[in-house]
This record gives sequence, structure tokens and C-alpha cells, in this order.
Amino acid sequence: MKTEWLRNTIKDFEPYYVAPIAEKYVINANENYFNVLSIPSLKKKLVEALDTFKPQIYPKPMADDLRKALAEYTGQAPENIICGNGGDEMITYLLGTFLNPGDTILVHTPTFDMYELGAETLGARTIKVRDLAGYRRDKEGILEAVKKYQPKVTVICNPNNPTGDLLPASFIEEVLKAADNLVFVDEAYMEFAQKESVLPLIKKYPNLVVLRTLSKAFGLAGMRCGYLAADKEIIDAIGKIKAPYNLNAFTQLFAPIVLKHREEILRVRDDIVKERNRLFDELVKIPGLTVYPSCTNFLLVQVESKHEEIFKALKAKDILVKIYRNSGELPNAYRITVTTRDVDDALLEVFRKELS
Ligand SMILES: *Cc1c(COP(=O)(O)O)cnc(C)c1O
Repeated sequence: MKTEWLRNTIKDFEPYYVAPIAEKYVINANENYFNVLSIPSLKKKLVEALDTFKPQIYPKPMADDLRKALAEYTGQAPENIICGNGGDEMITYLLGTFLNPGDTILVHTPTFDMYELGAETLGARTIKVRDLAGYRRDKEGILEAVKKYQPKVTVICNPNNPTGDLLPASFIEEVLKAADNLVFVDEAYMEFAQKESVLPLIKKYPNLVVLRTLSKAFGLAGMRCGYLAADKEIIDAIGKIKAPYNLNAFTQLFAPIVLKHREEILRVRDDIVKERNRLFDELVKIPGLTVYPSCTNFLLVQVESKHEEIFKALKAKDILVKIYRNSGELPNAYRITVTTRDVDDALLEVFRKELS
């Protein structure tokens, strides 16, 4: 392959690479430990539904049944929802629908990589507003930058990955008023925060787009199901570039069944939140370690020393966390997905021993 065959905007990209995983406790990707198929009534419904499942037929282009179920769950109308292969695909669609080469997007940083990657692929520029000390968002800085640059898309990840910080909906409403263009709010972890969602603002602000996913609190990361909620005109515009059969028939069948059983699944969410608070309280006590308050299913932790050693010691205990290497923004940091007490106790033991 000749390098000049590549699209100019991606020549310097590294392929997104996920290292093979050997550890038993994989707490590096904010996955849910709970398997929804362990709910007997849910499994029964799925098996029954498979009786009439027709894999030889193309799926519904707009995932009608799933869209209805998600509309009911989010308090929107079905025409305000569009579904796809995880939040990642929805980010690609949103940016692909609205960004021209040379346009700008605004992000706060540190945050999820996919916004900047998606924008750069399209030849758009990224303006970054750095967090304040303690990885809390710079609200004034964001508002000033929105007014000054009027970016085509302003991105707010709320609660934020990887910091766990939650902004109030009232602040996002200020951004919506200040922006002449789109405001994209990624609520992938909102089920863990359970407050400050901006879904109710969609009726009032035609420039608001909200991203949700079933990958985190609903435990369907492997199924790939994400969705956007926005004004109908935005949903229709995304239809211009959406692949006609983007979301497979099995996810369209399975996800509405999962949503029907959400009471049981969200009880697991409640357990995770309790365990997160306990883990936080224990981590705070360890000298040489800083842990940041989080409204999600993960905690951001920084150590004063032994960054690589602790990562290896955790691996030796069969625990894989996300480590931030060569990162100016997140020096000596890890992101730890909260799962169950036994895993967290093993993890705490390693931190206590290494930092004592
Ligand atoms: C996990 C995540 C998503 C979406 O993940 P999908 O599995 O593609 O649905 C989106 N945004 C953030 C911030 C995430 O952490």
C-alpha cells in the first residue's frame, strides 16, 4: 500500500489497538460485570422471541421496535431517537452529518478520545478547554470558548470519562443558549449519576443532541447498541448518511427485551454505585494516592510513585486496570471500573502494600 493512498487527515493516526487480555478481572473498559441472561424471565423471553426470528431478512432500517422501547425509557417520542452500533457509531454519524473540513469542534479535556478522532478524520479542528485542578470542568472557560469560537459542535461528556465529573444540567443549558450551533452531550454514564440529564431539554433546544448507550449500566457492551436523542430534524438529517441496515436484527430483538427488564438490571446499577462509594472511601485513606469523586461506574486514581509497578502488581493478581502512559494530562493515573467487592478488596490490598 502506498502511504499517499491514505486520506490525508488520518496519515498520522495509529490503528486503534486493543491488547489481548489474559487477566481474569478485566476492569479497564467500564464494562458491567452482570450478565443480563442470568435473569431467568429475560432469558425465557429471548428464547421465545428466537422462535420467530428471521436472520435471512434485512433488519428494520430505523429499528422501529427498539426505537419505541428507547423512546418510552427516555420520555421522548420515537421520531426523536436514532439507534446504531454503540455510541461510537453514533458519534461518527453525528460528526459526519454536520462537520465540514476546516470546521471546529470544542471539547473539554481530558475526555473520551472518539470526538477528536472523528473530527480530525473529517478534517475538522478541535479546540480544547482544559479541566481545572482536580479534573473539574472549567465552566467559565467552556462558555467563553463557545462564545468566542462558535464551534460547529460543542461536546460535553457528562458525567465525564475518564474523570467521573458531573456538570449540572443548568450549566449545559447556559451552553445551549450561548451556542449558535450544535451542543452534543454524551450521557453514556448517566444511569450511574441519575441526575442532571439534559434529555428533558430536547423539546426546548433544537440544537441539543444527547448520546446514550446500553453498553454500560445495561450491560450490553458486546451487543453494540447506542442511540441519539434530538429534535426530529436532526434525527432526519443523520438519516442522510446512516447505513440503511446499520443495526443488526439480533440487537433489535434483544435490546427491547432487556429494556423491559430494566428494574432488575438497574438494581445491579445500584449495587455498583454503593460499591463505588465504598471503594472511594477506602482509596481516600491510602497515602500517596489521589482518587477523584465520580458519578459513574469507574474511579480515576493517581499515585505519587510506582505507577508501572502497581500496574504490574495488579496484573500479577489477575486484575487489569486502564493505565495512562505518556499522558501529560493524566500523569501517573489509572481508571478503575467498579465491579464487585472481592475484586476491589484484592485491588485495595495491592495499592496499600505498594504504597506503604
Ligand atoms: C463507553 C462510552 C461510549 C459508548 O460506548 P459504546 O459501547 O460504543 O456504546 C460513549 N461515550 C463514552 C464517554 C463512553 O465511555
